[in-house]
Amino acid sequence: MTFDQEAVLRAYARSAEDGHTALTELDQRSGDGDFGDNLRGGLRAAVARFDEGGTSAFGALGSVFLDEVGGTSGPLLGLLFSEIARALDGSDDPVAAFADGARAGLEAIQRVGEAQVGDRTLVDALSPAVDAAPSGLAAAARAASDGARHTAELRARMGRASYVGERAVGEPDPGAVGIAMLFRSAAAVAE
Ligand code: ADP
Ligand code: MG
Ligand code: MG
Repeated sequence: MTFDQEAVLRAYARSAEDGHTALTELDQRSGDGDFGDNLRGGLRAAVARFDEGGTSAFGALGSVFLDEVGGTSGPLLGLLFSEIARALDGSDDPVAAFADGARAGLEAIQRVGEAQVGDRTLVDALSPAVDAAPSGLAAAARAASDGARHTAELRARMGRASYVGERAVGEPDPGAVGIAMLFRSAAAVAE
């Protein structure tokens, strides 16, 4: 199976362009409305950094999100992308490496952010995706999408969304939707 991390970066960047308005509206309901800007801006900057050369696609994603992207999601996604970059680096089985890196990223995100499954954060998409990833990226993408959809029924206990409580219930968590977009991009490229 071929898996080209540059193609994943470009597919993810396209989906963040397409999803910008929807992500903004979700974060307006549950937070401060900047998640669409944070994800799209970070992906634009990562594509630009990758195009300058000298780094892998996920290396560019990791450094841009850690160093430049604001919000709670910026550094947390930066940890995820950096762990995926590290796992992909030199691996001869990139699909397995992507799954391993995503697991390491989930662990790093939970170490720093302390969110558990059910707290209505991006962990609710990432954790089931990581669990499904040994069955392949298509299964991981389905699990991430299902996990993101399920956050619509959850009350936030972490992050800014916890301040608005019931108001956000009924719509999914924007960060979880952003994670589902990553796994759908990876699955589409690995087809
Ligand atoms: P901010 O709330 O600082 O504006 P963003 O809008 O960039 O941050 O990101 C919001 C997303 O961050 C949420 O939708 C949620 O998925 C995620 N998030 C918030 N707190 C945590 C946490 N402790 N652990 C994991 N993800 C979190
Ligand atoms: Mg926000
Ligand atoms: Mg913010």
